[in-house]
Amino acid sequence: MPADPLHRAGSPQRSTKHQPPRGSAASADQAGTGQAGTDHAEAPESGLDKGQVEVRRSARRRRTVSAYREGDRTIVLIPARMSEAEEQRWVGVMLDKLAAQESKRLLGDAELAERAELLSEQYFEGRARPVSVRWVTNQNTRWGSCTPAEGSIRLSHRLQGMPEYVVDYVLLHELAHLLVPGHGPRFWRLLEAYPRTERARGYLEGVVAAERLPHLPAARTE
Ligand SMILES: [Zn+2]
Repeated sequence: MPADPLHRAGSPQRSTKHQPPRGSAASADQAGTGQAGTDHAEAPESGLDKGQVEVRRSARRRRTVSAYREGDRTIVLIPARMSEAEEQRWVGVMLDKLAAQESKRLLGDAELAERAELLSEQYFEGRARPVSVRWVTNQNTRWGSCTPAEGSIRLSHRLQGMPEYVVDYVLLHELAHLLVPGHGPRFWRLLEAYPRTERARGYLEGVVAAERLPHLPAARTE
């Protein structure tokens, strides 16, 4: 069967990942992570289900961008001098960061199983019925795996810091393997139903690529 990037998660050395602060707030050093996320050049769509976004410019702010939730709104604080294009891009980046932190807090094994059931219903008419769905920490080179004979699905804990739409994609990918084992056209046709398949695959490819960069500046908190 053809190779599938999903099952090759790349080098496992990043075990001590940057831990975002507790609470729905995120910040980043725009000088440090500036080359990432061109993906967000178009209107940011991820995380928008959380409500409105309000961008506040601050003259005191030079390099850092931060964001937090306030009720159903998201406030993004950016330096006053930032261009419109940069603003757009950073809003996307920060929405992803917040979504990632939230998914990390909210999704345990029970929630994961629940999520799998919902996704199966929504995209596969409930035909994919796993016996077990759980997080594992011993899976560093694959994002997810599935044993159709047992009906078991395992997701790498490395996904836990990622946006919900990425976790959903991996879950849906493994669910699809309960219906179609390999990665042939029938398999990918199943996944076409999920509107963010391409975006999620791009995100995961980006993570693998970033780990191979010689120097990756850490995000900074204020
Ligand atoms: Zn697969």
